[in-house]
Amino acid sequence: MDVAACSPQKAEGLWWDDCGMVLQAGNTVYRLSRNFLAMHSPVFRDMLLLPLPEDAETFEGCSLVRLTDTAEDATNFFNALARYDFFPPHPLPTTFPILASVLRMSDKYGVDGLRARALAHLSAVHPTTLGDFRALPSGKGENPLIDGLYQASAEMVVLARQLSLDWLLPIAFYRLCELNPHPHIFTSELALADKERWLTGLRLLEGTENSKMINFLWTPRTIDGCTSKIKCSEERLACRKEAETWGIIGSKTAMRQLPLDLWDHGDWARLAVCNNCLATMMAEHSVALSSFWDRLPAIFDLPSWSALEQRKLSCCPTV
Ligand SMILES: [Zn+2]
Repeated sequence: MDVAACSPQKAEGLWWDDCGMVLQAGNTVYRLSRNFLAMHSPVFRDMLLLPLPEDAETFEGCSLVRLTDTAEDATNFFNALARYDFFPPHPLPTTFPILASVLRMSDKYGVDGLRARALAHLSAVHPTTLGDFRALPSGKGENPLIDGLYQASAEMVVLARQLSLDWLLPIAFYRLCELNPHPHIFTSELALADKERWLTGLRLLEGTENSKMINFLWTPRTIDGCTSKIKCSEERLACRKEAETWGIIGSKTAMRQLPLDLWDHGDWARLAVCNNCLATMMAEHSVALSSFWDRLPAIFDLPSWSALEQRKLSCCPTV
């Protein structure tokens, strides 16, 4: 049976007249080279080199292979295979929708080089150390992949779970907590247990953990060596009261400020305190940040950073 009459859409740029095989994903068809796909993917090699039955489906006279993948995933994946600049390696920029498609498909079809390229992009924006996290760009528009991760909302957690990439999860959950709890998180493909982890984590981050992060502003009440005790105490107390509202979306920035960002570099300029108080508080804040980072995986019921790093090493040693 020739199915051209059902009029699927020919993929732009992935319909090569000199090739003899058509693949269909969703309502999109691709005319590609059997040998090209077999060369890159052992799964396609095994699948496409099997002899076709005599009554096999055809499309415009070519043998037709139906894929169970979405058209978006197939289009992004075939483009990444065929065009050297469509999905460039880190640190060149990419977007989350392309990366997610390429990772899912390269994992499924055994294209190890593209899978490693996708994981290198994800690894760079899901650090496993505090120093690497603090070195990430924090502004909107500075890194299109980070912007895309926020737009993707729960999809990053879902992807990491599907492909057993647990080492991405602490930061993926953390970013999810920074967003307004939009109803689509509840209706997303996120597993029920992960919805519970997200909600429990969000309550802890915006409550107890945020509070711990700014304790340096009022504990101890007087800092040893302070040269202006009354003024410094009043300043620190006033600042602490103001900072308590920063965990609410919109009170400081458009995002909810959680422990890793609650008090940032620019906030030290808010404090008109003596140099001794400033140095002591900076040291206390640094200790609080390190301590929070160590607790972060457990907040989302995940293994420790060292266990997650071991898993990362075993699943993708080149990243
Ligand atoms: Zn002081």
